[in-house]
Amino acid sequence: MSETELSPAEEAAFRERCRAFLEEHATGVGGGRAASGEDRGAGLMATAKKFQGALAEAGLAGLVYPTEYGGAGLTRAHDRIWRETYRDYPDMTSELTISHGMCLPVLNDFGTHEQKLQFLGDNIAARTVWCQMFSEPGAGSDVASLQTKAELDGDEWVINGQKVWTTLAHLSDYGVLIARTNPEAPKHAGISMFIVDMKDPAVEIRPIHQIDGGKHFNEVFFSDLRIPKSWLLGELNNGWNQATAMLMYERVAIGTGSSSGISHPNADRLINDAVKLGKINEPVLRQDLMRLYAEETTKSMVAMRTRAELKAGKAPGPGGSLGKLHGAKIAKMMRSITSAVHGADVVAHDGDEKLAMLSRSILTSFSAQIAGGTDEIQKNIIGDRVLGLPRDIAVDTKVPFKDLKVGTQRSAD
Ligand SMILES: Cc1cc2nc3c(=O)[nH]c(=O)nc-3n(C[C@H](O)[C@H](O)[C@H](O)COP(=O)(O)OP(=O)(O)OC[C@H]3O[C@@H](n4cnc5c(N)ncnc54)[C@H](O)[C@@H]3O)c2cc1C
Repeated sequence: MSETELSPAEEAAFRERCRAFLEEHATGVGGGRAASGEDRGAGLMATAKKFQGALAEAGLAGLVYPTEYGGAGLTRAHDRIWRETYRDYPDMTSELTISHGMCLPVLNDFGTHEQKLQFLGDNIAARTVWCQMFSEPGAGSDVASLQTKAELDGDEWVINGQKVWTTLAHLSDYGVLIARTNPEAPKHAGISMFIVDMKDPAVEIRPIHQIDGGKHFNEVFFSDLRIPKSWLLGELNNGWNQATAMLMYERVAIGTGSSSGISHPNADRLINDAVKLGKINEPVLRQDLMRLYAEETTKSMVAMRTRAELKAGKAPGPGGSLGKLHGAKIAKMMRSITSAVHGADVVAHDGDEKLAMLSRSILTSFSAQIAGGTDEIQKNIIGDRVLGLPRDIAVDTKVPFKDLKVGTQRSAD
């Protein structure tokens, strides 16, 4: 993953190659945006898979990953050009944010050569889709309190427990799971990471019905799920450090999106709408639109800094929380500004697709402040690890997990 400089001619040629591909494939058509409710996720996923398959065929998928593992074996300079070019086209791969933004880098960082040979190429080309299984009913912000357990039985791990809020589990082929492998150790020390086959009959996936009519995430139950011993991902009992790395990737993926450069798409769209609807001269609305414009500009600049750090070979650090927090703030601002521009039409519409989409985006905007770690947790991370403020008092970091009353483990009460 080097940042080899390209000559101006090489840069122009590669930009043209990206543009030609996007011109043909990034049409936005069939993106599933027109479909409503529960079909929407499947529609968007079908579009993402088709697009990614074509990208792989064109030799443009997984740009910085080695060809040995199904990547394109190119440099971060190529990746930057791709992102700059993609910025001007519809996002075709939003449903692959977890599979590519989080599972792929974690597989690459912690996977063995054999695991990478087996899984990376299919992931990159979206022949398989991956999900992330961290959260449990009793372990969200405090995910180290997780109770799903993995026990070694001969050449297999046996997994029992439950995960929740697993985005796209129902459309995924594999999952990255964290489970407890040593209950005698303190809670952060006895966790390991695994690869799980989501199609195994011992995995039960139950959809969670959302306020916007969709079923985007799920409860997942494991009942004596057996996986090969070799599907341990990374080191035994090092799962907490690996999970933290994955969460950093998650915040970067959420906070920076798939494009690069400065953009303010929501402000642009709403300013345009306000002009069309004759509301652009309303002083309070003008002020709010300007605040949104400034917030999106700031978020872009934070994302550019994060990408520059990645380009310089730095692992994503707690600064990723800043981008995630900006995204959540923008989602919150969008709620009131969209309502101010479009009025009651965003709620009481007669099926008009644009208004239906705005209505859905208002309803789903609340999740931005929770998914990938809540706003409060991001602020704690920024306080502790960026600003160097004193950390929260933790009384349970040296106690064996089995002696803690955490999650739903309260039988000793
Ligand atoms: C749309 C969406 C998609 C998701 N997708 C996935 C997924 O694919 N995989 C996955 O594993 N999980 C997923 N999650 C789960 C998500 O990571 C958790 O919901 C999140 O970490 C919060 O955990 P919780 O819901 O248990 O809330 P809790 O941790 O119970 O928090 C409840 C409240 O307490 C506050 N709080 C908790 N601890 C502290 C503290 N120390 N300091 C200050 N305030 C605190 C929180 O900020 C929050 O307001 C998803 C969630 C959403 C909304």
